[in-house]
Amino acid sequence: MALADLGRKITSALKSLSKATIINEEVLKAMLKDISTALLEADVNIKLVKQLRDNVSSDIKLDGMSLGLNKRKMIQQAVFRELTKLLEPGVRVWTPSKGQNNVIMCVGLQGSGKTTTSTKLAYYYRMKGWKTCLVCADTFRAGAFDQLKQNATKARIPFYGSYTEMDPVVIATEGVDKFKTENFEIIIVDTSGRHKQEDSLSEEMLQLSKALQPDNVVYVMDASIGQACESQAKAFKDKVDVASVIITKLDGHAKGGGALSAVAATGSPIIFIGTGEHIDDFEPFKTKPFISKLLGMGDMEGLVNVVKEFGKENKEAVIDRIQHGQFTLRDMHEQFQTLRKLGSYRQLLGMIPGFGVDFLSKEDEETWSARVKKMMVIMDSMNNHELDNYEGHKLFHKQPGRIQRVARGSGTDIKDVEDLLTKYNKFSKMVKNIGGLNGFFNGSFSSKHMNQNKVIKLTRQIAKIMPRRSLKQIGGMAGLQRLMRQFEQEVAKQLKGKSSINNM
Ligand code: GDP
Ligand code: MG
Repeated sequence: MALADLGRKITSALKSLSKATIINEEVLKAMLKDISTALLEADVNIKLVKQLRDNVSSDIKLDGMSLGLNKRKMIQQAVFRELTKLLEPGVRVWTPSKGQNNVIMCVGLQGSGKTTTSTKLAYYYRMKGWKTCLVCADTFRAGAFDQLKQNATKARIPFYGSYTEMDPVVIATEGVDKFKTENFEIIIVDTSGRHKQEDSLSEEMLQLSKALQPDNVVYVMDASIGQACESQAKAFKDKVDVASVIITKLDGHAKGGGALSAVAATGSPIIFIGTGEHIDDFEPFKTKPFISKLLGMGDMEGLVNVVKEFGKENKEAVIDRIQHGQFTLRDMHEQFQTLRKLGSYRQLLGMIPGFGVDFLSKEDEETWSARVKKMMVIMDSMNNHELDNYEGHKLFHKQPGRIQRVARGSGTDIKDVEDLLTKYNKFSKMVKNIGGLNGFFNGSFSSKHMNQNKVIKLTRQIAKIMPRRSLKQIGGMAGLQRLMRQFEQEVAKQLKGKSSINNM
C-alpha cells in the first residue's frame, strides 16, 4: 500500500470518531484496529504497530473525560504523538558547521541510491551556499566513478576519484585531504555497496570510517524493499556508527512503511528523503510536517519556506508594476523561470492542504513542465519591444507577421505561438487580480483587499488554467474556492508564526 493510501486510511479511521455518537471502549478499539491494519499493510513492523496500539489505549482514560469533543481531540492527538514516536528516535539531528570541513560518508547496499543521494545532498548544500564537493570511493562497481563524475559535472560540483587506484581507503583519503586543504565545507564520500550485507562490505566500511573519521555516516536506505529494511539497517548499525538515515525512492507510490519504521532499528534520525530520480527530488525530513502531510493536513511549514524563497526571487519593481495591472510577456517569462527554479510542482502542490502528494501524477508534471519549457523557448525568440509591451497580446494580433517570425525563430508552429499568447492573456488577467503570485502569498489576497466578488472572479480565472481533471478532483469551482480561502488563511496564520500542525 502506497504511503498516500496509508495516510488516507488513518485519516478516515480518525474521522470515524467524529461520526460516532458516543465514544466508548468499543469505538476506540475499532478505530485502533483500522489504523493497525493500515500500518501493517504499509509494511510497518508488527511489534511497533502493537506498541502504538497499546500506548494509545493506555494513554486514553475514557471514563475520566466528560465531553465527546475533548475525547476525540485527545485520541487524535495520542495517535499523532505515537506516529511521531515511530519516526523519531529522540536523538539530536546532526548538522554541519559553517567554515569547517564536514565529512559525510554515505553507506548502504548496492542500488540503494548512494551515488544519486550523494549528488542530491551535495547539490542541496551547494544551493544553500556551502562550499561542497564529492569523493568517489566506490572501486567495486565498474563505471562507478563515471556515474559520479557525470552527476557532479551536471550539478557543477567539484569531485575526486580515480580510474586506476583500486583501494577505496587510499582514494578516499587522498580526496578528502585534498578538499580539506582547499577549505571545502561539505565533503561527501560516496562508497561502494554489495547486493547483500557481506563481510567484505562491512570490513571496507570499517576501514574507511577509521581512515576518514567522518563527522556523519549516513545510511542510505531504499524504501522499496519493504520489511527487509529493518534487518539490513541493523546489520549496518552493528558494523559502522550510523548517525543518520536518508530514505530513497519514497516516490508517490512507494510502500514506505518498512523503511520509515526501520528507523527505530537504527536509532538514528532520518535527515532527508529522496522522492525521485531527479537531483531536486529531495527534501529535508521533519517528522511532524511529514505526518501532517501524510494525514492530508498539509505541510504548511514547508510551503511557507518555499514562498519565502519565492519572494526573494521577485524583484520589487516587477511586483509593483504587476500590482498596478501591468504584466508583460517578460514578466511571465520571469515568473516561469522562478517556478522552475523552485523545483517540482508536484512537491509544491503536495504541501498544500487538500492536495496531497498524489494530486499531480509524475506524467502530468512532466507534461506541464515540458509545456512551460516550450513556452519559454517561444518567448526567447521575441524581441524586447514585444517582451516589454504592456499589451503584448494585442501587439501580436495587430501585426500577425510577428507571430510568424517568432514561430520560425523558435522552431515551433504558429498555433503554438498563438496558444502562448492566449495563455499570457488569461494569465495576465489573473495575475493582475491577485497582484502577482508574490502578492497572493504575502497575504495581499486577504479579506481586507478582496471582496467576495473578486474572489469568485479570481477562482474562475484559476479554474480556466487548471487541468480539468485536477479541478474535478478538488470538487470543482466550489472546492477550489474553499481551498483558496483555507490556503490563504493558513498562510496568513503561518506568517504570523502560529502553527496549525499541533492542533489536530
Ligand atoms: P547506488 O548503487 O547505491 O550508488 O545507487 P544509485 O545511486 O546508482 O541508484 C540506483 C538507482 O536508483 C538509479 O537508477 C537511481 O536513479 C535510482 N534512485 C535513486 N534514488 C531514487 C529515488 O529517490 N527515487 C527513485 N525513483 N529512484 C531513485
Ligand atoms: Mg553507487
